[in-house]
Amino acid sequence: MSEALPAGVQRREFDGTERLATQGEPVYGEPTDGEWRAWNPNRSKLGSMLELGMDTGLEGGETVLYLGAASGTTVSHVADFAGPTYAVEFAARPARDLLEAAESRDRLFPLLKDARKPESYAHVVESDVDVIVQDVATRGQARVALENRRFLADDGRLLLAVKARSEDVTRAPEDVFEDVQAELAEGYEIVETERLERYHTDHLGIVAQSL
Ligand code: SAM
Repeated sequence: MSEALPAGVQRREFDGTERLATQGEPVYGEPTDGEWRAWNPNRSKLGSMLELGMDTGLEGGETVLYLGAASGTTVSHVADFAGPTYAVEFAARPARDLLEAAESRDRLFPLLKDARKPESYAHVVESDVDVIVQDVATRGQARVALENRRFLADDGRLLLAVKARSEDVTRAPEDVFEDVQAELAEGYEIVETERLERYHTDHLGIVAQSL
C-alpha cells in the first residue's frame, strides 16, 4: 500500500488500531487522541481511497471544491489538512450540521447550492482550484464533474466516488462505471480507478486529471 499521505494526515493508533487521522474538532463521534481525530473509511469515500493507497495527489494545503458535502463527515477532514475548502451541499438538513463543522474551521466554506448549477456559486469559488472532490451519489455523476471542471486549475485533479446504484439500480455496476468513465473522457484523463468495495458497496473511486 502507498504511504503517500497528504501533510496533515497521519496514521495513528486509536484503541490499539492504526487509523488515518487529521487534527481538528470532532464532527461525527469519531475517536480522538488529543487534537487528532480518526478518519473512518467506512463513512468516507475519500478516506477509503486513501486507505486503499490510491494516487490522490493530495499534498496538504491545496484549494478544494468539495461537491456533496452532506453533514461534513469527510469535508471536515479535508479542511483539517487542505487550504480553502468550498463545500457544496444542496440539502438543507445535512447543511445545518455542515455549518456546525465549519464553526471551528476557518478554511471551510459551506455553500447551500446545487452542484448541477455551478454558475450559482461561480462568484464565490476561486477559478483555479487544485482539486475537486465529488461524492454526490445522484444520477448524472459524470455530468456534475464535467460541469464543475471550469473551476479546476490547468493541472487540477478530480477525486470522484461513483455510486453505481445512483445511476441505475437495475444495471450491473461494471457497466455503469464504464459509461461514467466514457462520459468523463470529454473533459478528463483518467489516472487511476479502484473499486471501493472493502468499504463501500458498488462504488468506484476515480482519480482523473483535467484535460
Ligand atoms: N461526501 C459526504 C461525506 O463523505 O461526508 C457524503 C455525501 S452523500 C453520499 C451525498 C450527498 O450529496 C447528499 O448529502 C446529497 O444531498 C448531496 N447531493 C446530491 N446531489 C447534489 C447536488 N446536485 N448538489 C449538491 N449536493 C448534492
